Amino acid sequence: MEIPFVDLKAQYQSIKPDIDHAIQQVLNHTAFVGGEWLAAFEKNFAAFVQVPFCVSCANGTDAIEIALEALGIGANDEVLVPAYTWVSTASAVSRVGATPVLVDVHPQYYTLDEQQIESKITAKTKAIIPVHFYGLPANMPAIMAIAKAHNLRVIEDCAQAHGATINGQPVGSFGDMATFSFYPGKNLGAYGDGGAVCTSDATYAEKARTIARLGQQGKHNHVAIGRNSRLDTLQAAILDVKLRHLPTWTAQRQQVAQAYEQGLVSLPVQLPGKPTGFEHVYHLYVIQTPERDALQDFLKEQGVQTQIHYPKPLHALGIFKQVSEYPVADAMAPKLLSLPMYAELTNAQIAYIVQAICTFFSRQ
Ligand SMILES: *Cc1c(COP(=O)(O)O)cnc(C)c1O
Repeated sequence: MEIPFVDLKAQYQSIKPDIDHAIQQVLNHTAFVGGEWLAAFEKNFAAFVQVPFCVSCANGTDAIEIALEALGIGANDEVLVPAYTWVSTASAVSRVGATPVLVDVHPQYYTLDEQQIESKITAKTKAIIPVHFYGLPANMPAIMAIAKAHNLRVIEDCAQAHGATINGQPVGSFGDMATFSFYPGKNLGAYGDGGAVCTSDATYAEKARTIARLGQQGKHNHVAIGRNSRLDTLQAAILDVKLRHLPTWTAQRQQVAQAYEQGLVSLPVQLPGKPTGFEHVYHLYVIQTPERDALQDFLKEQGVQTQIHYPKPLHALGIFKQVSEYPVADAMAPKLLSLPMYAELTNAQIAYIVQAICTFFSRQ
């Protein structure tokens, strides 16, 4: 059996009439930038995150840069980011002229380890960017308490966790600002690039919108040096259709995760954990095993595609300043393996993957 790592075709086929209709509507109106579909998606996505404001933009990396600029963060400032994340979380900090300061991650949850935050705070620290990594919320109650005690701003990087919650409260509604990516493979993915900044603060929302719209406040009234970062209307119309299906898709991902857990629990692999009250939306299903490379090769021979998210922690890339050791991140790097994870995986596919992994370990 051939099992791809992600299957965007299966998802498109399941909602094709609605998607095709939405695209045709935008084409009929030749409304390619701005307009009613964009406004509708911003409104609906803000409601989904349970915040009043959503400013759409071109991608999730821009969203982080825009949020940092809206908070006034730049030269001589330090921003705490996890040592294990997609590069954008830290490179966006560098792009606005500030310094990303890496903090090690939690050995079970893989998110920013809140116990290690305070030792990294200096007089220059202005903000923390927790990442809801692989789909599991970072410990926002603890992080918000630390931020409050040290007067730091918090930007949640929600690129991997649309719809995840802590005690029922959605990610993106805890911090001062939150950023999302709609890259095709994300839990809510466009048919191209897209991103958004969400916030409960009207001033931050206004700043973010001004920055992303070339410093404009009203047509041809440029009041600041902004940038051009837009979500195009075709993508907004597609995302608006897909947003309605996201809760169902998330529940299906969670069922896949449950089936993996049942099948793999007695094997010598570390399965994803989560604290009580935290809802994991399984953007990725990542296991850890010292036999990672051999297991990946074996699964490939069996037709099962896997990936590694990510091969190196940020300090090992050599492009960010290393301020300390990162033993948890270093220990994870050679062991991480992401199994296929999407709503459309069938029971037969899951059983095949589980059986292949069991076979691998029984031969050891
Ligand atoms: C995907 C991702 C981003 C960047 O999103 P793009 O839309 O690809 O720019 C940022 N942070 C994290 C954690 C991501 O996974």
